Amino acid sequence: MIDSEKICYIFDVDGTLTEPREKMQDDHESIFLEWAKGKQLFISTGSDFIKIKEQITPAGLSVFKLIFCCMGNEALKPEGVMVRKFNFLVPEELKRDLKDFLDNSAFPYRTGTHFEARTGMLNFSIVGRQANPEQRKEYTNWDNHSQERLKMAQFINNKYPELEASVGGSISIDIIEKGCDKGQVINYLEGMGAKKVVFVGDKCHPGGNDYGIIRELKKSKLAFEWYNVSSPNETYKLIKDNRVFLED
Ligand SMILES: [Mg+2]
Repeated sequence: MIDSEKICYIFDVDGTLTEPREKMQDDHESIFLEWAKGKQLFISTGSDFIKIKEQITPAGLSVFKLIFCCMGNEALKPEGVMVRKFNFLVPEELKRDLKDFLDNSAFPYRTGTHFEARTGMLNFSIVGRQANPEQRKEYTNWDNHSQERLKMAQFINNKYPELEASVGGSISIDIIEKGCDKGQVINYLEGMGAKKVVFVGDKCHPGGNDYGIIRELKKSKLAFEWYNVSSPNETYKLIKDNRVFLED
């Protein structure tokens, strides 16, 4: 499936191939399609496949061998066939701990849907996802004061070293298995026989959502180069000037 002799070019989407959440520009698409001929290309993004399809046309997507979505927890072929999906299995003890948080929080009411399994993660909310905008605001204010979400995340991170809990959005915390970020893309490709990787992203530094890729590249046996771009224009300039990259 992976041609080991060829470079694996991996691109982030938001801020790299497109402006965040925007469509790929027509002139960018033609530059990209011309350059892509004969190359082995991949996408790595935090978004899900539905959002990608809103941003990149079927012709644009067709040049990619695999599209890694949801921080690498899903891999799909351009026509939408799923080839990999990682589901986070919530440990029973964690379920009990979260239930205790839910029962014991001093926040005065609950609205329902407190646990939401998303691809590769669990989202947990004391007020619940049924909260209307006003109730959300009420919870956020209360949380700012009580630091409840931060305390819950710290509790989980201390008790479960294999998990990573973080405060996300305005009313919830996200819980993932450690390392289940974009770094999975590198492990997957290396496992499939990749030898050379070039990555282009806009958040490659620690704390950024492309950082997992850089971290795993450095740990791997792969030959690699990576480029942190400041905008899609910079990406297409790299491509146009043919400064991309390792010799094929
Ligand atoms: Mg990005």
